[in-house]
Amino acid sequence: MAIHTADAIVLRRYPYRETSVIVTCLTDRYGKVKGLVKGLMAQPNRHRSAMEPLTVNRIVFYDTRTSQLHLVSQCELLSPMAQLTKDLETMRSAAFCVELTDAVVPLEEPQPAAYHLLKDALERLALDGGEPAALRAHFTVRLLHLAGFQPQLDRCTGCHTMVHREGYWSASQGGLLCAGCLHEDPRAEPVGSVLLGVLETLAESAQPMPLDPQILPALQRRLDEFLHWRLDHPLKTLQAPGSRLKAETASASSLQPRA
Ligand SMILES: [Zn+2]
Repeated sequence: MAIHTADAIVLRRYPYRETSVIVTCLTDRYGKVKGLVKGLMAQPNRHRSAMEPLTVNRIVFYDTRTSQLHLVSQCELLSPMAQLTKDLETMRSAAFCVELTDAVVPLEEPQPAAYHLLKDALERLALDGGEPAALRAHFTVRLLHLAGFQPQLDRCTGCHTMVHREGYWSASQGGLLCAGCLHEDPRAEPVGSVLLGVLETLAESAQPMPLDPQILPALQRRLDEFLHWRLDHPLKTLQAPGSRLKAETASASSLQPRA
């Protein structure tokens, strides 16, 4: 059995039998891994971390021959990220980041850039290192880019002809439509070169950047719609009460173009 050591951000943790937990982590060296931590609840002092979601830990784990569930033999807390619970907006943004990571990063594929992106985003949220909405927009676009889930912006998703920085945004089709393919999605909206340029810049940039407050709401709305349509399971963190997306989705059955 091979033994591995990695730094790991806990994405999810749930109980297993009486005293153990199963964790899903994004690691710096092995990508997303799932592990069983035996006896964590019964003997919390035996382990040097409770493996709470959002925390950064150093873990030692063993491969099991039969499944992708590894045995985590040691865990040590490196950073509790306690500041992430300081207020509701910060908590919600952090929860969104880990949930999106879990949704789009495949198991067992090394993704060091995604690990550093997530760690950096959580640290910035914890330390008030930037406007949360801009951080979240960058995190979303960059992670989708790294995971190969990005919106298609250079070719029409209907007929695959080149579209350069203009077209109609269709979340349900996964990117841009040309004018000739608008019948594919009657709800598609015109989208300008400025917004498309921002999307391209964010996808290529390893670091977040300040964004024009004028463009941020439109950018956020299109990203939320995209995630809503393109992920296999809706994100819980996009369904918070009173969220913009929920209200829009509820009224979308009328198929009216949006203002
Ligand atoms: Zn087309």
